[in-house]
Amino acid sequence: MNIGILGAGQLGRMLALAGYPLANRFTFLDTTGQPSAGIGDIMVFESHAENDPGQLDAFLAKVDVVTYEFEHLPVDLVRAIEAQKPVYPSSQAIQVCQNRAEEKALFDRLGIPTPRYRLVESAEQLEAAARELGCPVVAKSITEGYDGKGQAVLRDPAEAAEAWQSIGHSRLIVEAFVDFVREVSIIAVRGRDGQVVFYPMAENVHVDGILRYSLAPMPDLDAQVQQTADDYIRALLDALDYVGVLTLELFQTRDGELLANEMAPRVHNSGHWSMDGAVTSQFENHLRAIQGLSLGDTAARQPTCMINVIGREGDPESILAIGDAHLHRYDKDERPGRKLGHVNLVAPSHAELLEKVRACAALLPDAPEPQFSFE
Ligand code: AMP
Repeated sequence: MNIGILGAGQLGRMLALAGYPLANRFTFLDTTGQPSAGIGDIMVFESHAENDPGQLDAFLAKVDVVTYEFEHLPVDLVRAIEAQKPVYPSSQAIQVCQNRAEEKALFDRLGIPTPRYRLVESAEQLEAAARELGCPVVAKSITEGYDGKGQAVLRDPAEAAEAWQSIGHSRLIVEAFVDFVREVSIIAVRGRDGQVVFYPMAENVHVDGILRYSLAPMPDLDAQVQQTADDYIRALLDALDYVGVLTLELFQTRDGELLANEMAPRVHNSGHWSMDGAVTSQFENHLRAIQGLSLGDTAARQPTCMINVIGREGDPESILAIGDAHLHRYDKDERPGRKLGHVNLVAPSHAELLEKVRACAALLPDAPEPQFSFE
């Protein structure tokens, strides 16, 4: 099959790498002007691509099925594509996931607990919400937010005017700050026939809103907690009649409760560990799902930790000298804060895994100290 991918970053690159063994071909459609996939056929669309039917027709002529690796796309463009070719997941999923208010409304409707929140449309309303929820609170733009961008933490309601100014959006969501034990994510895949498979949950360590480490399976994970996460994500998959990989990020509180933070309608950074640590990677399973093929086993082969390579690459040679270390480079230029690649470390036990993680982090110039909740 010829697969069309909306977006052309590293997630698209890794989808293509997983698809070549299945004899898939890839055409990327980039709307950012900065494609980095470095693989397959890349078509760069100017910002209002939907106004240029010739360009869109050229893309559609090349592909049998369309998916995406980036959700901040014009919904109109996705709908125009959907009118002509199968798109998985659907434009409805994209619409919900690119809007934090719609996402939270869906969580509420399905009975998935979230941090307490309010929607606000002015600095005054932000201040009132901060007072009502109790500081600290996190204010977030409703659209276009990712990797902690478009957010501000308020330690006092008096900081509302400044926070409103710094975010610069006309509608915000304000959330009570969760005193979590850890951040986790659940990734599941739904096939065209409705079959669903679940990956083991990962513990995710963020610094300044950016993912730095993901570890799965977690050594101290209660089966009941995994079951709860599976139930939440299954409800979302079924409600959206979803096809492909869906990611749900959650906070785990001291009493073991899970609160949904946000979801991503695509393969996710917190699932990169599956490339070397699971029987079937999230990328392969996404491609299987959208083509109507059988889904692969999601079990972890061994404890695995993914470390993001951000800003500077360090010395790839010394990283590769670590046993069972797998380096995935995205072929991008170094720039502060930019995701340049990741390392997957695999070990027979969590103790050995943590030793490798520390050794590897020491080789990455900008890696923060690895610290997991179970240590
Ligand atoms: P987000 O873009 O919503 O995933 O937020 C980025 C990061 O900010 C999260 O991974 C958390 O580390 C932190 N964060 C976001 N919302 C909250 C919250 N309500 N309580 C505590 N931390 C939060």
